[in-house]
Amino acid sequence: MIVMKFGGTSVADRAAIERLIGIVRAARQAAIQPESADWRGPVVVVSALGGATDRLLGVAAEAAAGDFEGAQEHVHALRDRHLQVAGVIATAAERDEVEQFIRREFAELERIAGALSVLREVTPRWLDAIAAAGEIVSSRIVSAALMSHGLAASWVDARTVMVTSKDHTSAAPLFAETDAALARRVDPLLAARRIPVVGGFVGATPDGVTTTLGRGGSDYSAAIIGAGLGASEIQIWTDVDGMLTADPRVVRDVRVVPHLSFAEASELAYFGAKVLHPATIQPAVAKNIPVRILNSMRPQDAMGTLITRDRPAGSGPLTAVASKKNVTVVDITSTRMLMAHGFLKRIFEVFEQHRTSVDVVTTSEVSVSVTLDDARRVPEIMAALADVADVTCEDRMAIICAVGEGLQTDPTFVSHLLEAVGGIPIRMVSQAAARRNVTLVINEADLEPALARVHARFFTDEAEGQRCVSC
Ligand code: ADP
Ligand code: ASP
Ligand code: MG
Repeated sequence: MIVMKFGGTSVADRAAIERLIGIVRAARQAAIQPESADWRGPVVVVSALGGATDRLLGVAAEAAAGDFEGAQEHVHALRDRHLQVAGVIATAAERDEVEQFIRREFAELERIAGALSVLREVTPRWLDAIAAAGEIVSSRIVSAALMSHGLAASWVDARTVMVTSKDHTSAAPLFAETDAALARRVDPLLAARRIPVVGGFVGATPDGVTTTLGRGGSDYSAAIIGAGLGASEIQIWTDVDGMLTADPRVVRDVRVVPHLSFAEASELAYFGAKVLHPATIQPAVAKNIPVRILNSMRPQDAMGTLITRDRPAGSGPLTAVASKKNVTVVDITSTRMLMAHGFLKRIFEVFEQHRTSVDVVTTSEVSVSVTLDDARRVPEIMAALADVADVTCEDRMAIICAVGEGLQTDPTFVSHLLEAVGGIPIRMVSQAAARRNVTLVINEADLEPALARVHARFFTDEAEGQRCVSC
């Protein structure tokens, strides 16, 4: 059985959902062929309609600012958009039922926004309740749309299967509880030859309070569900042809990477390849389930990217380059001149106490530099370190992360990489022990030219991989 996850652009409007129906129908037909090893499924996981989560968070921000009229206007616009998209449901009875569901959900959201705008405060718990509406409604629409087109879909409320911690806005899945809930609620549907349809991103605590897994979390939901149900493949359907050699929004002429190892995919996702949520690979690794990234706009033409434990050797050292902007560098210099025993421990304890994760680390005799994605707690961190170190920080930095299994066998790679970015100031350089990646930290303003040069140097016309037609 396969799990098929459709991202925001793959369910953005009626046309996108019609394409989704065609893709699911083809997968269903393949599953029920007599020669198929497993006639169950697929299981469908969907994101909110493209842009809906941003809009919902906008509603929360308006409520927090006491702007009920603004929040109300956006709730109405979202409701109307969902009602319009629900027109894809081909049978009147199913359409009416879903329309009523949409009206009820958005009426409830309006009441919540009203109450919160009086209080002028939106706690993380309420933020999750608001953000979750996107996937709850989209999955209901998609399930009914599949049904109305002759596919035996059943809607599964994600809050009844994805059991998580209470860490609102970035809740951690509780795997044992989630697996038990999947066995209870989804396995019987599969056994009855149904196609379960679940909203991604959303979960609930063991007490039933709504949570979310963090932005982009539907990929993670799909992987958790796939691992829990023992899927043979997890498919991530999106708006590009697969994992690309660089971010297509920054570099032109990118190519599709046909095959990645789990380790490469994790590094790329962690360092900014948005096409995959950074946690997606973990559940797949645990059960050794292949992950495939595919383009829902071109289901027949594009081969996509296959991600497995091992992959055949490629033609060059480098597989792809990830990048991210909006990075903060914190420089910590010991005031005792030498890094005393226990100094690093002290530093990382402070970051841990402030629940701030560190990405890239470099050290010298007296100083440590780290990069952060989330700089909200930097003032407190600086204050906590003030008695042992001078601390400075700089924002608007960027990370370039060159990733490839081939780096392990090419000891000259770093020198070629530095040559490629020659002339561009480099703030930090790091090569991890696994030698699967090399990370550079530069000024954000230099990201585009630096990435273009690295890409041109390592991905020539002869390099393997097909061009991304959709980019
Ligand atoms: P979805 O809504 O389907 O989850 P996302 O917007 O989360 O889609 O991720 C897909 C986007 O990721 C692409 O449109 C692309 O702009 C961006 N992206 C960034 N880096 C990469 C990369 N290396 N390969 C593919 N896509 C990338
Ligand atoms: N809808 C959520 C978001 O926009 C989750 C996802 O699409 O993966 O972050
Ligand atoms: Mg995504």
